[in-house]
Amino acid sequence: MSDPFQADSAVYKTLLESTKAIPWKIDWASMTFAYIGPQIEQLLGWTQQSWISANDWAERIHEEDREKVVNFCITQSQSGIDHEADYRALTASGDYVWIRDVVHVLRNEAGETEALVGFMFDISERKKTEEELLRLQKQLEAFSYQDGLTGINNRRMFDSIMDIEWSSAQRTRRPLSLILLDIDYFKQFNDHYGHIQGDECLRRVAQTLQEAGVRPRDCVARYGGEEFVLVLPETDAVSAQKVAERCRQLVRQLRIPHDQSNVAPLLTISLGVGTIIPEANDTPLTFVEAVDRLLYQAKQQGRDRLQHGHCGGSEAKASKA
Ligand code: GH3
Ligand code: MG
Ligand code: MG
Repeated sequence: MSDPFQADSAVYKTLLESTKAIPWKIDWASMTFAYIGPQIEQLLGWTQQSWISANDWAERIHEEDREKVVNFCITQSQSGIDHEADYRALTASGDYVWIRDVVHVLRNEAGETEALVGFMFDISERKKTEEELLRLQKQLEAFSYQDGLTGINNRRMFDSIMDIEWSSAQRTRRPLSLILLDIDYFKQFNDHYGHIQGDECLRRVAQTLQEAGVRPRDCVARYGGEEFVLVLPETDAVSAQKVAERCRQLVRQLRIPHDQSNVAPLLTISLGVGTIIPEANDTPLTFVEAVDRLLYQAKQQGRDRLQHGHCGGSEAKASKA
């Protein structure tokens, strides 16, 4: 069967100029446009006649994409490899449109590159979707480090931050402090006021604790149930106790009624406060466990108070000396 389009360049032209994709041809030796579809004007605003040399193409690529795209296309073309590139093309009105350029390399019988032919596709819609997806993905990632009930950092974030600050404390030999705190008689609070009130109470405590740590690197997280944690990098024992006392006061100042509490008619918290300069034998886990024991002591000793202590590391050795 013979090729129905053979030698019928008018048919080709009509077909090429009625597609949404924009066809073009560049002569390799002279680096000039042999052809570009008239649709280009509708997409970018530059007239068909304004595309003369390959330079016109390069100059209409977004500055941030230009070098990478041009170098890639030249290298691929020189090697005779078909390729495609996504980039932002400059419009006549100064905006940018995302384009995918699909390039075929035409070679002569000796295998030398003679011309490039290709199609430009408008992929701005696709890019918009991609960007939206990327944004969603980032949001999702943020959510996975956020406690659903209170909106503050969750346990996972605490674990990550603790690892980072632990290494930093090891490196700098500066004290790392940790406050673990737990609401007093919260089971009774729930039983008496109901779970909805209990949840609201957790939200208010979380918000108020956010204000207790003042340095930018301080981190507040919900550790679990009605327990919260503060990581205080480069903070010594004295400063950590001050922060802990501020937490205790701030929660009291919320004046959340708690009729069923044995310590006060208001909601109170107990706190364990630990400080460490990590030594080789210490781990974040043993440190957290040590602070948890301090919290337990604060409970034992009557609640609504803080208990400070040493938790291994060189701080402990210093205190024994
Ligand atoms: P203590 O003074 O010794 O800390 O006593 P407590 O009653 O606070 O301690 P316990 O660990 O027995 O009780 C914790 C309670 O916290 C039980 C649980 O129902 C409640 N709780 C944990 N997570 C949530 C939550 O997300 N929402 C609500 N409303 N309550 C929670
Ligand atoms: Mg508890
Ligand atoms: Mg409790």
